[in-house]
Amino acid sequence: MLATITVNDEKCNDPLSCRKCLLVCPTYVLGLGTSAGAHKFKEIEPEHFIVRGVRFDKCTGCMKCAEVCPKNAVQVSF
Ligand code: SF4
Ligand code: SF4
Repeated sequence: MLATITVNDEKCNDPLSCRKCLLVCPTYVLGLGTSAGAHKFKEIEPEHFIVRGVRFDKCTGCMKCAEVCPKNAVQVSF
């Protein structure tokens, strides 16, 4: 069964500086994207970066991402 991963973007408002969940995931499930459309990277405001599940099939449900998040912004369920 594939994982459902949700990230609360209001709580996670500067993922570029944090990145804890991205770094802790042993199977690189999560990815950093942007909600700002096609702009040059340096023109994107920090709050427009978003964390999303990408490789759902690689999620083992270890919950390290949820545990490491200082803002309690990540939820994983199956
Ligand atoms: S539950 Fe574990 S494997 Fe799944 S996204 Fe979080 S850290 Fe990665
Ligand atoms: S650990 Fe939490 S606050 Fe940090 S980038 Fe991931 S979801 Fe955002």
